[in-house]
Amino acid sequence: MVELAYLAAAVCFVLSLGGLSAPSTARRGNTLGIVGMAIALVATLPATQSLAAFAGALVVGGTIGAVLAKRVAMTAMPELVAILHSFVGLAAVLVGVAGYLAHPHGELDALRVIHLVECFLGVIIGSLTFTGSVIAFGKLKELIKSKPLVFPFRHGVNALLALLTLACLGWFVVAQAGLPLYLAMVLFGVLGVLLVMGIGGADMPVVVSMLNSYSGWAASATGFLLGNDLLIIVGALVGSSGAILSYIMCKAMNRSFVSVILGGFGAEASGPDDRAEAFSKKGVNRAGPEDVAEMLKSARSVIIVPGYGMAVAQAQHAVREMTELMQKNGTTVRFAIHPVAGRLPGHMNVLLAEANIPYPIVLEMDEINPDMVETDIVLVLGANDIVNPDALENPKSALAGMPVLEVWKAQTVVAVKRSLNPGFAGIDNPLYYRDNTLMLFGDARKMVDSLVAQLKGTVSH
Ligand code: NDP
Repeated sequence: MVELAYLAAAVCFVLSLGGLSAPSTARRGNTLGIVGMAIALVATLPATQSLAAFAGALVVGGTIGAVLAKRVAMTAMPELVAILHSFVGLAAVLVGVAGYLAHPHGELDALRVIHLVECFLGVIIGSLTFTGSVIAFGKLKELIKSKPLVFPFRHGVNALLALLTLACLGWFVVAQAGLPLYLAMVLFGVLGVLLVMGIGGADMPVVVSMLNSYSGWAASATGFLLGNDLLIIVGALVGSSGAILSYIMCKAMNRSFVSVILGGFGAEASGPDDRAEAFSKKGVNRAGPEDVAEMLKSARSVIIVPGYGMAVAQAQHAVREMTELMQKNGTTVRFAIHPVAGRLPGHMNVLLAEANIPYPIVLEMDEINPDMVETDIVLVLGANDIVNPDALENPKSALAGMPVLEVWKAQTVVAVKRSLNPGFAGIDNPLYYRDNTLMLFGDARKMVDSLVAQLKGTVSH
């Protein structure tokens, strides 16, 4: 019965992932995931030695999870995901150590070697996932600077840590001693810190999905150790889907997977922007909501580029209202989504779906970039890095090579943000100083509300 229940849960998880691949089926996918997890929890009951401990863990963990999930703002989701990955890593370390301590010595036959290797892998993958996720949490929460930490011979140091860990594995298996296991835990923990510290601002999305993948492999290693088939399957699902997502994001950002995971990518190239002075002399073209509203009224085609700022301002509902008003006026309105816009994969799609913006007018970067040239107005709403022309035009930029939304090719660009401050990658954006760019300074929500009011014609001049 338990095996059958585990199989049913595994099928639910696979169907859940399938459902999550399209916005229209995402809700069903989520429900299937919840059903799968409920089946898994019930099926684990017969294996527990203490019902009280099981219920206690369920109540305490469930309550903390429910409160956190209820409270978390959409913009803080990546931090939450990162810290949750760290828990998976920590659990894998604890299970690995417990697996060893339960039988610290035994005859060294093939089964024993497999058991020791399982413990070791669970501990090191878990340790790397734990420390890496804690650093990722710090970077996403901006407690740690997003700039990559670069020091001489860092690749050499990382390779040395990996080699020493390999030596510890040999020592651990031969001596069956705890010391090499704990040493390897520390070495891989330090490696986790160095790898994530070495990754720069705009590459963080890849790190988050990679840590997601590591947490899956850590869970799988734990599954082998505990002889739990479901944990093995679910771990492998999370591990492989996280790896595929990392690959897709690397491709979207034109980064090589290896250079991102080894860290420090783009760090040498980025330095202080020596054009800052020239920029400040040139100044920007400012516009007020009235001017922008007038332009929107007469535009035939408008593309809206949402970014992290739209999420912070929670402007998506006002944006839908503005879109409907423009459509009523005969304007073609579409949305352009960059693969790493916001702070988590699919962030903008989720917000736009929440505001009931129809999917057909929401287009991916590759689909919409060729249309920029024929567009009258591109409204950049709280986006920055994803519309930075330097990514294509300045080989020294930290974003060099990353495909971006080529908004500057439109007739006019209106950038809505509060100041000239940089985005997540921490670098200047020359877009704001271009002749065809107008800056509409202010909070995205307030500015869109004000545009809506102007479009409705309710504001008297
Ligand atoms: P950015 O972080 O580049 O820029 C966001 C801009 O929004 C800022 O320049 C800020 O300017 C503005 N802003 C902030 N609050 C408001 C507000 N209330 N109203 C109006 N504007 C506001 O965001 P993008 O979406 O352009 O790019 C995403 C970045 O995040 C990329 O570098 C990406 O690599 C990274 N990232 C993405 C992840 C993902 O999975 N999608 C995960 C982790 C990182 P100002 O302060 O002047 O208002």
